[in-house]
Parts: sequence; structure tokens; C-alpha cells
Amino acid sequence: MNRFDIIDELNANKTLDMQKWQKLISEHTDEDYMYSSQLARKIAKEKFSNKLYLRGIVEFTNICRNDCLYCGIRRSNSSVARYRLDKSDILECCKLGYELGYRTFVFQGGEDAYFTDDILCDIIKNVKNKFPDCAITMSVGERSYESYKKMYDAGADRYLLRHETADCAHYSKLHPENMQLKNRMQCLENLKEIGYQTGCGMMIGSPYQTSAELACDMQFISEFKPHMIGMGPFIPHKDTPFKDKKSGSVSLTLFLLSLCRIMLPNVLLPATTALGTVDEEGQKKGVLSGCNVVMPNLSPLSVRKKYMLYDNKVGSDLDALQSLDRLKRQVEEIGYEIICDRGDYK
Ligand code: SAM
Repeated sequence: MNRFDIIDELNANKTLDMQKWQKLISEHTDEDYMYSSQLARKIAKEKFSNKLYLRGIVEFTNICRNDCLYCGIRRSNSSVARYRLDKSDILECCKLGYELGYRTFVFQGGEDAYFTDDILCDIIKNVKNKFPDCAITMSVGERSYESYKKMYDAGADRYLLRHETADCAHYSKLHPENMQLKNRMQCLENLKEIGYQTGCGMMIGSPYQTSAELACDMQFISEFKPHMIGMGPFIPHKDTPFKDKKSGSVSLTLFLLSLCRIMLPNVLLPATTALGTVDEEGQKKGVLSGCNVVMPNLSPLSVRKKYMLYDNKVGSDLDALQSLDRLKRQVEEIGYEIICDRGDYK
């Protein structure tokens, strides 16, 4: 079976066996990408026209109890200047975002014990109270079922928790021993069961990743059927054990994004900041591969450089208006439009 046929099979059945995933991933060529991206773009256009949903990320703490080997804000990195935003800072970011047309706020941070359920729920309720027409996405890592439920009941709509890799052995090469893939997977199940629009995902080109692991990721995604997928290239950070590892490939990232769109036509698929960091035109190319979401930064300029998950993160010297303008210009060049909408999963 040739690779175009495999892509057609994915389009028809929305799933593939491991062998076919692996063949696509390990053997893909520029022609395969042209074929998959055209199909992905056609599907995205049918579902979302030329409209892109906008999410504003508020990176509200870079304090983290975890020590993920790839991450610039890992606990062991003593060169990070740590910070936390308080409720009024966060509300200020949302106010600015609202004025700029944002109708989804993504609250992302390290796993910071200061942010208890009560504190997070209070923030969620305040934001919902002031901006009732906005959606809230939480991205604060692994917590208990009860904690997720409390935040959901307080008004959180969506939750982003990348599974990072669906292969146990690979997971243990990226994380310290106290972190277990089965906990992360259980968290994802819990989030979905509670009713969140749930997002999983992985870095492309993370250290030790092979086409077998990526095949496993794609198969997991096809079974889990997330509402959102966060997928971008791995980029090394100078103060982590992976400082000398290579960045993930842009072309493989774009190919996999297009396969995600083909597999899950309605999925909310961001063209990530990491993609825009490894390639100046990366986010534009992501849109042309079937992405339908952009997520500029709404964090105060004073903390941007302290939330460095990887080196040279794009936009860390632009304020909220400049970040949005930069993206707007990029997507207009290819005939797309960023819209003012909550952008829920349909
Ligand atoms: N603590 C939360 C969690 O674990 O989901 C949210 C914050 S975490 C920093 C957000 C995501 O950043 C991770 O899921 C990971 O995939 C991504 N990330 C971290 N380090 C990265 C790197 N070096 N290159 C690319 N992405 C990275």
C-alpha cells in the first residue's frame, strides 16, 4: 500500500494500525505532506471556513514541583527567576485581552502548590463573573479528580494536559521516576469524564523519540479522541539535561498536524508558539496544515522572559497588542482571519 493510500484510509476510517502509522511517519516525503496538508486544509475550511480561534495564554506561575527533563522551568533549574501572578494581575491580563477581542483565556503554569483548589476556584469564579461570555482553559498539570471537578464546577470549560508520550519507556526517559505515564493518562480520563473539553498532545522530536513512539502517540490520540491537541516541536533549553539535544523537525510537526486534522476533523488544533519559534513562518505553515487556533501571549511583559520553557521563545519581547498584531498580519497574508469567538468544540 502506498502512503497516499494510507492517508486516504485514515481519512475514511479515522484510524490506522501501528504498522501504517509507522510507515507514514518514518517514510514520509514532501509529496506526502503536500497531499496530507491539502486534504487537512480542505477539511478545516469545510469546518471552520478561513476563521481562526483566538486564545490568550496567561502564564501565571513558573514555580513547579516537577522536574521534567526537557522543561526550562523544571524544579532543578536554579537560574530561573521564579514568579507568581496574583488574582488582580490575572484579572488585569483578562481585561486587556477582552478589549483586544479574546474570548478564551488559558491559565497555564507550573505545578505550584501555592495555587490550592480554593485559590484557583476563586480566580476562575472572578474571571467568569467579570467576563461571562469568555471560556476558561486550565493548564496546571496533574491534580486529583476532586480538584479537577471543583475547578469545573467553578466555571472552567477546558483543560489542556499533554500526555507527552504514550509509550511508558519513553515517558520514563523524559521524566523523573516519581512521574508515571499511568497517572497522566488517568488524569486525562478524569478530565473527560468530568465534562471538560480536554486536550492532550506531545512534543515532536523529543529526545529518544522514534517513529514507533510517535505511532503510539497517534494511535492513542485516535482512541482518546481529544477535543484539543497541543502539538509542537521539542526545543532544547540551555539549563536542562537536554540542552545539547536537537530541536524537533518542522516538517514532521506539520505532517503530523495535518494527519491530526484528517483523523479528527472537528478537533481544536493550535499552531503553537514552539512551531513559530523554530520557524519564523511556522504558525502560518501550521494553519496551512489544518490548524484552526492561535494562542498569543497575554502575560505581562515583565514576566514573559521568566516563562522560558525552551530557548528563544518567540514573542517574549512583544506586549499583548504586538503579539496579536504580528499573528494577525501573518495569517492575513495567507487569507485567514482571527475571530472574536469562544471557539468551543462542536
Ligand atoms: N505544568 C503544566 C503541565 O504539565 O501540563 C503546564 C505547563 S507545561 C510547561 C506546558 C507544556 O510545555 C508541556 O506539556 C510540554 O509539552 C511543553 N514544553 C515544556 N518544555 C518544552 C520544550 N523544551 N520544548 C517544547 N515544549 C516544551
